[in-house]
Amino acid sequence: MKIIEQSFSSYIFSNYPNDSTHFSQKGHEQVVYFQDEATGLQAIVGIHDTTLGPAVGGVRFFEYQNERDALKDVLRLSRGMTYKASIAGLDFGGGKAVLIQKKGTTLTEALLRKYGAFIDRLGGHYITAPDYNTTMDHMVDIAKSTRHVIGLPAALGGSGDPSGNTAYGVYIAMKATVKQAFGTDSLAGKKIGIAGIGKVGYHLAQLLCQEQAIVYVADICAKRLQAITEVCKVEVVAAERLCSWPLDIYAPCALGATLNNETIPMLHCAIVVGAANNQLADQDRDGKLLLKKSIVYTPDFLANAGGLINAVTELEPKSQNLVKQRTEALYTICLDVLDKAAKTARPTQEVAEEMAIQRIQSIKNT
Ligand code: NAD
Repeated sequence: MKIIEQSFSSYIFSNYPNDSTHFSQKGHEQVVYFQDEATGLQAIVGIHDTTLGPAVGGVRFFEYQNERDALKDVLRLSRGMTYKASIAGLDFGGGKAVLIQKKGTTLTEALLRKYGAFIDRLGGHYITAPDYNTTMDHMVDIAKSTRHVIGLPAALGGSGDPSGNTAYGVYIAMKATVKQAFGTDSLAGKKIGIAGIGKVGYHLAQLLCQEQAIVYVADICAKRLQAITEVCKVEVVAAERLCSWPLDIYAPCALGATLNNETIPMLHCAIVVGAANNQLADQDRDGKLLLKKSIVYTPDFLANAGGLINAVTELEPKSQNLVKQRTEALYTICLDVLDKAAKTARPTQEVAEEMAIQRIQSIKNT
């Protein structure tokens, strides 16, 4: 077992001398690199900010081109978690971990136990959770070596699959955005396109159909499309066409970075609100492009905060009512962000980040 724990800047200086300025500007508190030859584990944990509480964030398992890309991902995603927790009014900080996948390998119990032992050494400053390519079952193996893990199955006392509450949060954010754009928050008769009808998209489509919205869905997986058409009335659109489909609301619910300088000019909608993380490929450029097209964009980390709200109940066991209350509070937060952005003619993402930072800064100042 080999552990490298250094201050972030010394780690970056020694490993990435050419990128050190760029990486150091992200303001992370701690970055830890961990490897274990016996199990093949190679992990990086990024703790961005713990002013509001311990850092919470998922662990993803991904085949990165190189370690530099994995580090970039950890830095970017852990920062996003800080903003998500802060803007949702949660008393948690932002963190993220990556398990670097070697070609053709899968997650084994031995590797996950080692990862858990490593997380345990961080003494609760980082609490790990499911993310891309990691599931509730993987969390069960991690929990064999640490208690600093959430996202466990409901049968084991965990909060279970967060997708339903993530979808509910997106739905609430959609209603707030419609209120801001059209003066009423009814979704009845609104044409809404969901790109990606996976776990979140599936729940979202049902909520929208219940409210008599006209729902279009796209996915690259025929099974997912069939599953939704069996439970509600939706129209299937080819995945490559949904982005330019005439809509009131476009909801990216598949992968990140789908809003970019190629797709934004194609959009034919008034509003973008969806569950996918990191929807803007280039935050600065694409936020401005959406603004220029007068498309109201509700920042992803705000719209999809329902998942985090659901997961952290494992750390502060409270009633299901609290999850609902906190998720519904996203409505007012969205209105606040959109209103401030409209008044100052600034991209909504920029305004939301500023509000998240202000909350943290106010605690730091006291
Ligand atoms: P998922 O993997 O269950 O669903 C994603 C769906 O997108 C799949 O059905 C997949 O086939 C489809 N897809 C992939 N590429 C596509 C393309 N080019 N066009 C159309 N469809 C495509 O994932 P999920 O849990 O539903 O999450 C969706 C997004 O929301 C992800 O970006 C995730 O990071 C984010 N998110 C999820 C949660 C949660 O609670 N699950 C919470 C916060 C954020």
